Amino acid sequence: MLPVLPLTLRKPLGRPTKVRRKEPDEPQTTTKLTMKGVEMKCSKCKKLGHDK
Ligand SMILES: [Zn+2]
Repeated sequence: MLPVLPLTLRKPLGRPTKVRRKEPDEPQTTTKLTMKGVEMKCSKCKKLGHDK
């Protein structure tokens, strides 16, 4: 039988669990800020849809 060590004497192995908190105002990568309401207009033929 192995002696049961008290948990207080045992060191936590590995990294301590880091709980990454999600803040509501945290910028989300899924949100596309670019190309939002901005129409790409060609500078040559002045047409939308492409910029060259
Ligand atoms: Zn063009």
